[in-house]
Amino acid sequence: MTTRSALTEDTLVVKAFGKRLGQPLATHKGVHTVGDLLELIPRRYLTPQELTDLGDLVVGESTTVVAKVRDVQLRPMRQRRGQLLTVIIGDGRHELDLTFFRPYPHKDRLTLGALGIFTGTIGRYAGRLQLTHPEYQVLDEHSADETVQDLQSHQIPIYPTTGAVTSLNLRTAMGVVLDSIDRIREPLPEDVRRKRGLLDRRAALELVHRPEVGVSVEPGRRRMRYDEAFVLQAILAQRRRVAAQSPSVPRVAISDGLLAAFDARLPFALTAGQQEAGRVLLDELARPHPMQRLLQGEVGSGKTVIAVRAMLAVVDAGGQAALLAPTEVLAAQHFRSITQLLGPLATSGMLPFGGTDPERGPVTSVALLTGGQSAGERRTALASIASGAAGIVIGTHALIQAHVEFFDLGLVIVDEQHRFGVEQRDALREKGKNPPHVLVMTATPIPRTVAMTVFGDMETLTLRELPAGRSPIVTHVVEASKPAWVARTWQRVAEEVAKGHQVYVVCPKIGSTAEQGGPASEGEDADGMDAVTDDADGHEDTDAPERTLAGVYAVTDQLRADPALAGLRVATLHGRLDSGEKDRVMTEFAAGRIDVLVATTVIEVGVDVRNASMMVVLDADRFGLSQLHQLRGRVGRGGVPGLCLLMTGTDASSARERLDALASTTDGFELARRDVQLRREGDILGARQSGRGSSVRFLRLGHADDEALIEAARHDATAVVDLDPELTQHPDLAARVAARLDEEQAAYLERG
Ligand code: ADP
Ligand code: MG
Repeated sequence: MTTRSALTEDTLVVKAFGKRLGQPLATHKGVHTVGDLLELIPRRYLTPQELTDLGDLVVGESTTVVAKVRDVQLRPMRQRRGQLLTVIIGDGRHELDLTFFRPYPHKDRLTLGALGIFTGTIGRYAGRLQLTHPEYQVLDEHSADETVQDLQSHQIPIYPTTGAVTSLNLRTAMGVVLDSIDRIREPLPEDVRRKRGLLDRRAALELVHRPEVGVSVEPGRRRMRYDEAFVLQAILAQRRRVAAQSPSVPRVAISDGLLAAFDARLPFALTAGQQEAGRVLLDELARPHPMQRLLQGEVGSGKTVIAVRAMLAVVDAGGQAALLAPTEVLAAQHFRSITQLLGPLATSGMLPFGGTDPERGPVTSVALLTGGQSAGERRTALASIASGAAGIVIGTHALIQAHVEFFDLGLVIVDEQHRFGVEQRDALREKGKNPPHVLVMTATPIPRTVAMTVFGDMETLTLRELPAGRSPIVTHVVEASKPAWVARTWQRVAEEVAKGHQVYVVCPKIGSTAEQGGPASEGEDADGMDAVTDDADGHEDTDAPERTLAGVYAVTDQLRADPALAGLRVATLHGRLDSGEKDRVMTEFAAGRIDVLVATTVIEVGVDVRNASMMVVLDADRFGLSQLHQLRGRVGRGGVPGLCLLMTGTDASSARERLDALASTTDGFELARRDVQLRREGDILGARQSGRGSSVRFLRLGHADDEALIEAARHDATAVVDLDPELTQHPDLAARVAARLDEEQAAYLERG
């Protein structure tokens, strides 16, 4: 610890504290500067205890003693490799042993004669009292009294430790920084700080890093959370400003085009929510700046129709619209159902988009582009996209590839946004000559805090109502360990089919008749999307030993052999089948020629077969809450009550909690809230969701208090940016914004 003067928030930790502290911090925690270091906040705090006299030690009691090192012994361990360090400390009259199973770095610190303060729980070994791996701090002889007093008057922060960097190292380093830094940046304007009753930043850091005994650190932590929200919201406010000012082509709907013809032939009445969403979208598409909308709606709330109507308005106005779907199965289904909904309005011919057929009136051509198509199909699709013949383009992320050129892309719609990264949305957006309008749709309801943070540059539209005629879905948890329950489940499947309905059976992996390995998530979609069981990853329970998970092939065989299901037509679907086969199976199932479809989560999103009334999810504990809700949304679509059975062999309580939550409600918004609460913090967005601006460190996204706080920060930051878009009057805030953007850029590059 050399340069103690002239520390600033920009001083490199390596420079201030040397490599031994600096390097592991940089590598493991991304802490490069002193400013970063100050943001490393303690996990928890210990209250210092009264000093105990070495003569009064009691086995089993936690104790703090001040003593000198009297002896140091290093010897090989008997049972395993490595060395055992025993340090004997004493006060001249009594002695105590300290035992370390990892000598480094203690043997260099606890040298003969060193004075220290030691904390731990007293144990006994071979008749002698001892502390195993105590927390300790070596004291300077001259200032020992002072240091001990200081230590006794403060709570002891426990930092997340990294390799050789201990909590104590960090505590010491924080003390040095706080004592010698000349200035701490204050990104919050004074009036905001006062209005929100927040500590100033220095006081907050003091409180967080060295709180006195008996005070609450909460005001300090609250200030850290507010700062995080404020900086993020300032970035989002700047982004919204840029978008609001960048030009886009207004796409003004006409009254006698495709949209009108489509509305006239719709077989159902739009719900009030669908109508309202349509109005908002048409209005925004007609503006000269790019629309940025997030449409969230419960599973089955009818988002596709809204998307089609917006696309038709754009085609009517002379532009093209692209619909990006996360899987081939979903893209193909959209293609089928949209061409069907369009009926005679869709032409497979090469009429110019928005063209008028002399006999039929307005028509457009719909193109499908996926990775699994034949070269010929793809060539045709690419040509019609480039020439503008295709007004509506549907595809997987094959659409994003560089060689895909649009004639005039006016609207980008991303379906099931939760399956994409933000970069993919942006990549498609790049394909417009002018920034196209953007509509992002998701059926996984996004809690407000997340929406404001991750999608804070978009305006949100919410569909709460389901179309009339939907039947409730009943959900039960089935214990796989009870043979009678399992038998009853398959019997129930047979009964459902006997009533003329169809059934999905969902498995967590593909497996194969030959070889049972490989999770379904591996290369699940032929397009290379591996977004299948990622929701489940955050929920890995430690219910060892590893169970054998149900695979689609094994289950298909099992069901075909089950006498209870004799005569039923059972088929298999998963992402690794080639596109033609996937398409064939889905078409057959949709046509009612398959009774039981055994599938992976490839059917998770969007699949819409009205006659399907029952779903059995095997190893249900392997899936995330939102994912199960999505899956369950595949049944109960056509006026027949839906039944969802979640089979599980786990007794891990967190898994059961999740499944019970799912069984207790069908409200996706409520489930999303619980999901966020049940997950560990930081886990919330998962790798796939973590596009720009999404990772948070201090904010608790499922938390109601933080919702209010983010709301306040959004309000305050927007006001600041409105008055001073470049933040020239707010250099400290500008510095924080720049640092945050750098961090995101780095994270983005790392992900590739
Ligand atoms: P999601 O919002 O989950 O994407 P979809 O768009 O797939 O839902 O719609 C689910 C089903 O509801 C589709 O079969 C669709 O045709 C039908 N649907 C949509 N809107 C209505 C409506 N207003 N009335 C009746 N059925 C509707
Ligand atoms: Mg959908």
